[in-house]
Amino acid sequence: MAPVVLRSVEEVKAWATGLRREGRRLALVPTMGYLHEGHLSLIREGRRRVDAVAASIFVNPTQFGPREDLSRYPRDFEGDLAKCASAGAEAVFAPTPEVMYPSGYQTYVEVTEVSQGLCGARRPGHFRGVATIVTQLLSLFRPDVALFGEKDYQQLQVIRALNRDLHLGAEIVGMPTIREADGLAMSSRNAYLSAEERQRALSLSRGLRAAVMLLQGGTRDAQALVGAVRHELSQAGLREDYVELVDAERLTPLASVAPGQAARLLVAAFSGATRLIDNMQLGG
Ligand code: AMP
Repeated sequence: MAPVVLRSVEEVKAWATGLRREGRRLALVPTMGYLHEGHLSLIREGRRRVDAVAASIFVNPTQFGPREDLSRYPRDFEGDLAKCASAGAEAVFAPTPEVMYPSGYQTYVEVTEVSQGLCGARRPGHFRGVATIVTQLLSLFRPDVALFGEKDYQQLQVIRALNRDLHLGAEIVGMPTIREADGLAMSSRNAYLSAEERQRALSLSRGLRAAVMLLQGGTRDAQALVGAVRHELSQAGLREDYVELVDAERLTPLASVAPGQAARLLVAAFSGATRLIDNMQLGG
């Protein structure tokens, strides 16, 4: 069935209130649209866990820097609606920027620790924008469950922190990264890549997999693990933004992976003009 399209704050409140009155549990899946299997895996898991899923489709201007791709971010609302329907979303919230940031809007959310390094250091203001819109969405929908992808691993930790610290009461579920058959992490931004840039972009996942294998072989040293990713990036001619080994929860840098320790290896790199990110769990 086609999802109901919600455009205003009032429509969301009425829809969510109706759902709760019926005693039904709600899952929320926030997205920026141009949906792919990664997004749909979140909607399907939401359906599996509770009674109803709402997806939001909103290209959030406050999380884009002045020189980033806000104006050319890919969009396909009709296609997205069909995909939401096939994955089992009951409602789609598609506000304009003026609905989320009306004139007089002045409240922003800052998560101070896990926002610091990695993408936070390279994209000033990005996580403030993410935290602000996700806080708005969680406050509006009051979902029982909200699902996010590990593809955006630092974002997931930022959202866990704000949900906990601001008592928003959702269960935050992190879902594994969905990849193309050749290993490329699915992303709406992959649409920017030429065939050659896409081929070169495989070096991110190839490098991360090489590091996972190294750790399994007993290499625990951050320099060696990070080096495995750097090697693949440079072979493919990609420009590194960062490659870092961090504690999987606090995102603080690690010099090595201790036995039993949960670490995460994260990479950001440019294939042509397109900035791509990927990450994998190491140990734990
Ligand atoms: P976006 O539309 O890129 O803002 O992503 C919306 C949600 O989908 C976020 O929670 C992302 O982490 C998640 N997501 C994006 N790509 C993937 C993927 N390849 N696998 C799993 N989840 C993803």
